[in-house]
Amino acid sequence: MSRSLVLLGPPGAGKGTQAKVLSELWRIPHISTGDMLREAVRSGSELGKKVQDIMDRGDLVSDALMNDVVKDRLSQGDCQAGFILDGFPRTLPQADALEGILKGLGKDPVQALEIQVPDAEVLKRLSSRRSCPGCGKVYNLLFKPPKTEGVCDDGCEGSLAQRDDDKEEVIQDRLRVYHEKTSPLTNHFKEIGAWKGVDVVGSPAEVLEAIKKVLSE
Ligand code: AMP
Repeated sequence: MSRSLVLLGPPGAGKGTQAKVLSELWRIPHISTGDMLREAVRSGSELGKKVQDIMDRGDLVSDALMNDVVKDRLSQGDCQAGFILDGFPRTLPQADALEGILKGLGKDPVQALEIQVPDAEVLKRLSSRRSCPGCGKVYNLLFKPPKTEGVCDDGCEGSLAQRDDDKEEVIQDRLRVYHEKTSPLTNHFKEIGAWKGVDVVGSPAEVLEAIKKVLSE
């Protein structure tokens, strides 16, 4: 089983959920560029200031900036035994940059795993996603609601919030950007013989089983 994985799939496909489980299972870091950028925005860093408006609109941050962020992260010691990339690459130039970054760091090429989910399902899932502003735990009003409405199960302060980019009009934009800029990565990874996919639209546990199966083939 490859231990350097790129998770592909539209927003709301469950990449973050699966990456978290696989990262614990394999004891390798889960690198979510979306989480890294949101953390930068929260902390008010220079990077955060540069990306906030772009993220709120559902647009993509520039390739140059993202490539630097990922290069820095992959250079860290905890990536030695592998890593799971979630949200990067998102464009063909980012995929090319990733290849160069890995070569430069003496690492093996990645395996791409795509979680395939239809647009209608993405819309349904994302518009009902909420998260805890305190601990970041993610809920879904349809599939994984909190025990008490609007409140984090872990007793954090503040009420559960909707990400600005999970509002319905922004989701449509993110899907448009996904189809235009990110879906060409499917062919890219197929052409280099590094693509596998699962098209199970089910519970996270069912998707995880499908992923383990396809990766072991
Ligand atoms: P995500 O949580 O992966 O959906 O990412 C949230 C937002 O962060 C995206 O809508 C983009 O604005 C930005 N972002 C995350 N990763 C990338 C990337 N690889 N390239 C460009 N923008 C990104």
